Amino acid sequence: AKADGKGVHRFYQPEMHASAKDRRLLEMDLRKVMNDGGLHLVYQPVVDAQSEATVCFEALVRWNHPTRGPVSPADFIPVAEEIGLIPQIGEWVLRTACLEAVNWPDGVRVAVNISPIQFANPALPGIVMSALAAAQLPAHRLELEITEGVFLNDDAATDTMFARLKAIGVRFALDDFGTGYSSLGYLKKAPFNKIKIDQSFVRGAAVPGNRNAAIIRAIVALADSLGMETTAEGAETPDELALIRSLGCSHIQGYIFGRPMPSDEARARVAGSTKF
Ligand code: C2E
Ligand code: CA
Ligand code: CA
Ligand code: CA
Repeated sequence: AKADGKGVHRFYQPEMHASAKDRRLLEMDLRKVMNDGGLHLVYQPVVDAQSEATVCFEALVRWNHPTRGPVSPADFIPVAEEIGLIPQIGEWVLRTACLEAVNWPDGVRVAVNISPIQFANPALPGIVMSALAAAQLPAHRLELEITEGVFLNDDAATDTMFARLKAIGVRFALDDFGTGYSSLGYLKKAPFNKIKIDQSFVRGAAVPGNRNAAIIRAIVALADSLGMETTAEGAETPDELALIRSLGCSHIQGYIFGRPMPSDEARARVAGSTKF
């Protein structure tokens, strides 16, 4: 096992280099993980760019393999999507995130990543309602993070899914903006509350002459004119933070404000805050 620089040790090789044998092992272990209780969630703070108050936590799934140690979601989520395990894992993530978030102060939201495969499932609104009800979490405290990938699915079905989820009262964030292959047309009709600017634009943006700052500025202007908020992802350095602030992003998520942490630590971080 080798460290990948994010403190995650990889037993399995990253997808592209995986040997057929690694891949079969990973699949076999993944099929068992739901029964083993091998998954848990960690939460990364999203702060208001001006006040620095923590307004939200993004739920991120972790797989701690009993003998092999931590496996990164960047490695196992794509495999789970391919072998048909995402509906189960995704439902567990939703339910667990709602149950844990209800212990935080009222003003603090939880954001949950939704795979395009989940978004294409007509059962999703029922699953969301049931997760909210079981936790007694108000719908407006749940934000669903969706990638441009959902717009590759059938147009009418995607519109219907947004309408059904919106009727429940949850919020929507467009994740990893600018990294997919979609057109921008969907921004006209999809009810996003916020655009998340991918960390590939944030990283290095503060280096003089770097063109990422121009791209971030354009995304913020686009979001503003559509009445959407922006979260800059992956801010690590004071220079990146200062730049992002000057470009007018409304929210910031990155190691500079906090790494993903267990629910109890998240709760302690926002203890005492009631309103933002
Ligand atoms: P994402 O949704 O874009 O999540 C943000 C990722 O960026 C997280 O990686 C987070 O730890 C990392 N990150 C945040 N701030 C910084 C920073 O300042 N520097 C650096 N270098 N990284 C930062 P993580 O937790 O490894 O997750 C990777 C991806 O796996 C996520 O990217 C998401 O696409 C997927 N994922 C994670 N949890 C879930 C889940 O429950 N469901 C689904 N469908 N996908 C998930
Ligand atoms: Ca996300
Ligand atoms: Ca993202
Ligand atoms: Ca990403």
